[in-house]
Amino acid sequence: MNDARINLLGLPLDKLQAFFLEIGEKPFRAQQVLKWMHHAGVDRFEDMTNLSKSLREKLAEIAEVRPPEVVSQLDSEDGTRKWAIRVDGGGLVETVFIPDGQRGTLCVSSQVGCSLDCSFCSTGKQGFQRDLSAAEIIGQVWLAMKSFDAFQSGKGRKVTNVVMMGMGEPLLNFDNVVDAMELMMEDLAYGISKRRVTLSTSGVVPMLDRLAEVSEVSLAVSLHAPNDELRNELVPINRKYPIDVLLKSARNYIDRQTDKKRVVTIEYTLIAGVNDQPEHARELVELLRDFPCKINLIPFNTFAQSDYERPSGNAVSRFWQVLVDAGFIVTVRTTRGDDIDAACGQLVGQVVDRTRRSERHRARQAEKEQEEQVIRWG
Ligand code: SAH
Ligand code: SF4
Repeated sequence: MNDARINLLGLPLDKLQAFFLEIGEKPFRAQQVLKWMHHAGVDRFEDMTNLSKSLREKLAEIAEVRPPEVVSQLDSEDGTRKWAIRVDGGGLVETVFIPDGQRGTLCVSSQVGCSLDCSFCSTGKQGFQRDLSAAEIIGQVWLAMKSFDAFQSGKGRKVTNVVMMGMGEPLLNFDNVVDAMELMMEDLAYGISKRRVTLSTSGVVPMLDRLAEVSEVSLAVSLHAPNDELRNELVPINRKYPIDVLLKSARNYIDRQTDKKRVVTIEYTLIAGVNDQPEHARELVELLRDFPCKINLIPFNTFAQSDYERPSGNAVSRFWQVLVDAGFIVTVRTTRGDDIDAACGQLVGQVVDRTRRSERHRARQAEKEQEEQVIRWG
């Protein structure tokens, strides 16, 4: 592989047009090549038959269409599919596809590891290695479509929604994430509506303010605590950008949207005995009383290096009830893909011992059945 070649997979329309101009070609070539890459799933210039032979040869010399390398693919009993992807330099990241009726949500990673070290997150525990390139980010959508044979044939399962909720803090890899999200929404690429592309952040406020100027994707804020004292402990970046500053920035984000009906999704990971008590729920009600949001409760997913525990179904249900009684729209995230370590916060980019995994899965199944009796899942 010639490292000097530019990977066209990660270039949004304007940058691809600039590339063609630079090599002395007409900018409309960008439209053609975008469609080949992202509509047809073609990664060889020789197959791009509406380009002249000489242009195809020229492109093959200076450019490439290179999706990330898949090192493993696991299928869960519930239809969730997870890929481990090796990126240049040796790091591993994970991508998860979660089918739900007609909907197919892809959970995409933005960094190898994460520097923000939230106390309940396995990605945080592994530290930060590097940012993913735009090609590596959009490449995750590309390879999911490919794996389901959904390009062109239109027969396979499609990615209808994308959530930037895999490994990493997307706002700390701003430019590449913005380019990749542009491609997700671009009609000549994946054409997913801005409402169905969601960026989740733990609260990098200056970058969120910048995002408000350039993007209209849906916003999820990882709150996890109703006061600064507790949030400082769970989400260390809160010491820099406390809750009131974060909520102000999030409100500004949606106020700037052209579509005035939008709300922020507040994510709240429930950890047994830490932030899952009724008084926390009541404090959350006060905090969010006038804030345009819906709330997504995520029962903590366990992983090896953590002492935290998942709350009981009853505790989740109690917490949920307080919020619902106060008039909030609240969903509880169903755990998906737990048998393949694909649930939120379990993405670590390593191949996990299968025996341990299946033992844990059996235990989780029993737990889950119990929970489902008491909770109306969102
Ligand atoms: N860095 C971004 C996006 C990736 S994390 C963010 O923090 O928002 C995606 C979601 O999974 C976040 O809401 C995060 O708090 C949650 N999460 C992380 N670890 C978890 C765990 N062990 N159990 C449940 N949810 C977890
Ligand atoms: Fe990073 Fe998000 Fe994990 Fe926090 S929860 S360590 S911001 S990936």
